[in-house]
Amino acid sequence: MRPLTRIGFVISLLALSSAPHAQQPPSAVTLPGLEQALDQITVTAPAPSPTQAVPPQAPIVTPPTGEQVAAPTPAPASSPAPRAQQTALSIEQVADKITAAESALTARLRAFHPLVEVYLQNLAPDDKLGVPIHDEYFLGQFDWKDGPKLTPLSINKGSFQGQSLIKKPFGMQYLPDGFAAMTVPDWRLLDRQRYDFTFVRREFLGEARCFVFDLKPKGDEADGFTGRIWVEDRDYNIVRFNGISRNVDHTLSSFFRKKISFHVDSWRVNALTGLWLPAYIYCEETDASENKQALPRLPQMKTQVRLWGYDLKGTRAQQEFTSIQIDEPSVQDGADPARQLSPVASQRRWEQEAEDNVIDRLTRAGILAPAGPVDGVLETVLNNLLVTNNVSLEAPIKCRVLLTSPLESFTVGHTIVMSRGLIDVLPDEASLAMILGHELSHAILGHQLIDTKFAFADRLMIPDQDLLRVLRFKHSAAEEQAANTKVLALLATSPYKDKLSDAGLFLRAVLASAKQLPNLIQTHLGDYVVDGGQSLGPLMQQAPALAPENLEQIPALPLGARLVVDPWSNRLELLRGPAVPLTSAREKVPMAVTPLMPYIRYAVVPPRVTSR
Ligand SMILES: [Zn+2]
Repeated sequence: MRPLTRIGFVISLLALSSAPHAQQPPSAVTLPGLEQALDQITVTAPAPSPTQAVPPQAPIVTPPTGEQVAAPTPAPASSPAPRAQQTALSIEQVADKITAAESALTARLRAFHPLVEVYLQNLAPDDKLGVPIHDEYFLGQFDWKDGPKLTPLSINKGSFQGQSLIKKPFGMQYLPDGFAAMTVPDWRLLDRQRYDFTFVRREFLGEARCFVFDLKPKGDEADGFTGRIWVEDRDYNIVRFNGISRNVDHTLSSFFRKKISFHVDSWRVNALTGLWLPAYIYCEETDASENKQALPRLPQMKTQVRLWGYDLKGTRAQQEFTSIQIDEPSVQDGADPARQLSPVASQRRWEQEAEDNVIDRLTRAGILAPAGPVDGVLETVLNNLLVTNNVSLEAPIKCRVLLTSPLESFTVGHTIVMSRGLIDVLPDEASLAMILGHELSHAILGHQLIDTKFAFADRLMIPDQDLLRVLRFKHSAAEEQAANTKVLALLATSPYKDKLSDAGLFLRAVLASAKQLPNLIQTHLGDYVVDGGQSLGPLMQQAPALAPENLEQIPALPLGARLVVDPWSNRLELLRGPAVPLTSAREKVPMAVTPLMPYIRYAVVPPRVTSR
């Protein structure tokens, strides 16, 4: 019974984030296999991953404290030493180098087509805890057409939705483009003719030694960027900028129909040698007009903009090759009657092909992360459920991660897909087991897991913009209820059976926010949780009532709490920071947008031919 007692320690707030990539045992697993899996989950030290290149982005929990250059921050042995700077440069010379690097990046960005995700939360005015009460979502692809534009990829609710076009003729067209514009401080030119550069100090951002400058437009302040830039001192690329861009502001104010100023904190990561790409933008707004008493207030609107998928063209070529190789053997097998598949086996193969087609297509579109270590962590938890329930399935279940923020999970054949946002906010392993268990139940109960029309290749020869509309996999209400009943049985005999009150608490949190945050809480999860008033009721009854002021009770984590996306390769990494004790209820912010400060590193991968 040792595994069962050990798992009790596993289920702590950040246990998942310290879980190393577990080897998935083969489908028929015996108890020793389970024990091994659980032991791996319990490990608290980050697992060394010698085979992996140093990722260009790694998380930190606390903001950089702004060490001076003199502070010792040794560069890792693997990164090339910074160039010795023998000759002193004047501020003007440094400013000119910044201008040159920024012009080069701006020109290069026009050729890239990363995915851009905008998620906006409105907070209740005068709310002391910063609870979001309304949200907006937009997923698009960056396209340069006489300016930064976003081609929509998502089916949107709320103000970004098509029907609001009539009500908000300006907003619909310009709002997403306004956010696309935030990726650089000034799309025209950041030079000494237009701006005053004031040197502030030198400071480390992660591993990058930076110059910090304050920038102000020389002429009209309503035209250009006002704020601070951090510039790394090897190639003079902007790593971070923080301030306000008045041009962007005009666009966004017209959408919200009031004068507001979007303050922006924008971060870039070093994807390849010399190439720093916009990856994460946080912006917030306090409605200044109402703040007459100058009391400290929480922002009323918080937005995160994430960019990824810069290297999609490379992925595309690779994927096409893989599918050619899969198809070939079956073509040849057909000639040999002894080796011809039986109708049942053919049907299974058919479904498998549909699944592979969908997974490949989603990966090529940059919506699904490539297979990686995070999948292994999910599969370990899934395996715990399978083994303790003595379930053996005809095909092993795999897991993959959707790169988007909205909380959702679904099955594509024998692949369970969970969104990055959902993994981020789950408070613990028991809640993760509940989500995976629900999808697993659909498989165990023999519900149809894939629409086999996708076995026909032409079905997926559609533009990326139509993918998310076509690839929605729904179950009937009866099947959802059956899955919820089944998951209760699975959990009751699982290693998570004593920790189910946490899962119930998560359900309560989702239920409490489902109406306010319809863009974050997606239909499948939303539907079965809301319906869960009946079928998942037992889980919720085990949980205490939500207590927003109670620092001990963590029903859900903020967005971005667990997974870090490499914006170049789309690879995911678990955030391995220590749990930070909360000091006030304001810091709980379940399912909320927060500032995110990536850990800045120099790329160590050798330069190679980029997508352009
Ligand atoms: Zn379901």
